[in-house]
Amino acid sequence: MPSTNPPDNDFSLYEKRKAIFPKSVSGKRKTIRRYVGFLVYGLLFLIPWIRIDGEPLVFIDIAQRELTFFNMLFMPQDVFYLAIFLILAAFALFLFTTVAGRLWCGFVCPQTIWTAIFLFVEEKIQGSSLQRKRENKQEKRFTLKKLLTHSIWVIISLATALSFVGFFYSIYDLIPELLTFQLPLAVAFWVALFTWLTYVDAGLLREQVCIHMCPYAKFQSVMYDEDTLIVAYNETNGEPRGSLKSNTGGGCIDCSLCVQVCPTGIDIRDGMQLDCINCGLCIDACDHVMTSIGRENNLISFSTLNNLAGKPLNWASFLRPKTIAYSLILVIMTSVLSWKVLNRDLIEASIVRERDRMHRFNIKGEVSNFYIIKLTNKSESAKHLSLSLEGEGFRLVGQPSWHLLPGENIEAQVIVMSAEKPAGSYPLTFDLHDQTESLDLAPLESRYLYPVLKNKKP
Ligand code: SF4
Ligand code: SF4
Repeated sequence: MPSTNPPDNDFSLYEKRKAIFPKSVSGKRKTIRRYVGFLVYGLLFLIPWIRIDGEPLVFIDIAQRELTFFNMLFMPQDVFYLAIFLILAAFALFLFTTVAGRLWCGFVCPQTIWTAIFLFVEEKIQGSSLQRKRENKQEKRFTLKKLLTHSIWVIISLATALSFVGFFYSIYDLIPELLTFQLPLAVAFWVALFTWLTYVDAGLLREQVCIHMCPYAKFQSVMYDEDTLIVAYNETNGEPRGSLKSNTGGGCIDCSLCVQVCPTGIDIRDGMQLDCINCGLCIDACDHVMTSIGRENNLISFSTLNNLAGKPLNWASFLRPKTIAYSLILVIMTSVLSWKVLNRDLIEASIVRERDRMHRFNIKGEVSNFYIIKLTNKSESAKHLSLSLEGEGFRLVGQPSWHLLPGENIEAQVIVMSAEKPAGSYPLTFDLHDQTESLDLAPLESRYLYPVLKNKKP
């Protein structure tokens, strides 16, 4: 029989977002996060301003397709180093996650740090967590405090965007051009985009990014094992929970402070959860409560599943086949990458014979072959290069030499002539000289073809 109940218009497949206004807490973990944030993101703001010998410390020139990194110039031909670096970063991530879980999320991730900064501003202007919750429950209305909060968020977002764009567009041009409204349209677009993204991410979406959008949050759980560091509630000591007066025998007095301080709004006492970013604020909160009632700390702590099961937590817990393998790979790859980068050629050169171009005879009966030489100056100074030829019976036409500015690459034609000889292919060795440094560079190999002469013409 069909239901006679009226349709439920409020039914939704999606859970409505509950606004989270975490309570502020102080403690060891929060202090560590503050210092890490200052150090890591202080560098983000500082690096675009640093110059060594007039060159930026780190700079990505998209138009020239060049990366300057600590006085080293990398070009598209160096994509090999980028590939190795990315593999290295992936292994570093595997190792870090296997050992320390989501410690990155809680202490270093820009999303967490910026959200904490925005929350700090919000609290200073709009009041405590309780006041903001109360205000939020009332009808949404415009207040000067809200306007001020959002204005400061926009200023922080703009500063962040400028620093970030400063890695791609000289910060020494960026700031004056912004202040005089002369910023090129494309640069202004990126500044506006990054400002908007920072504001939306840290100001409006906050924990939603960690819970629903971050891909790392989704795949890191597969790297966990029983010895991975997690934030965990010690159920054995904590349960049965109950108020201080009820004296249930468990350590947890059910004050819910650990839930109130949590930036993702979860209750760590429900067990390990994907939403937990390992920020440790619940540990600070619980330790504070335990100290104030004279009970032992560490009801919530950084621990491992094995440790919770009674196994001691020490350095040996971190040494397991997976972590040893990741560490070895990291050490080997870092050594290879460093060696390759430090010993890379600053002049990149190649020479190829023009296959689609016919040989030519001159009046002396000599036959010419044509070559294209490609030269790239990956150093930070101008270079004067010259070419010579090894071997008897061959000669270069003219005295090829080139002047290359830093980062410049050129293509030029080179002609080799030879007196009459048996038809065939002959190996050729070109010697490239760096006249600026009086250095012989790696020789370039190619071949010379002497044709079969059927109708030889002068
Ligand atoms: S802060 Fe500690 S004592 Fe309070 S509810 Fe959380 S676990 Fe229990
Ligand atoms: S449960 Fe604790 S460690 Fe996890 S996100 Fe919440 S406050 Fe941070």
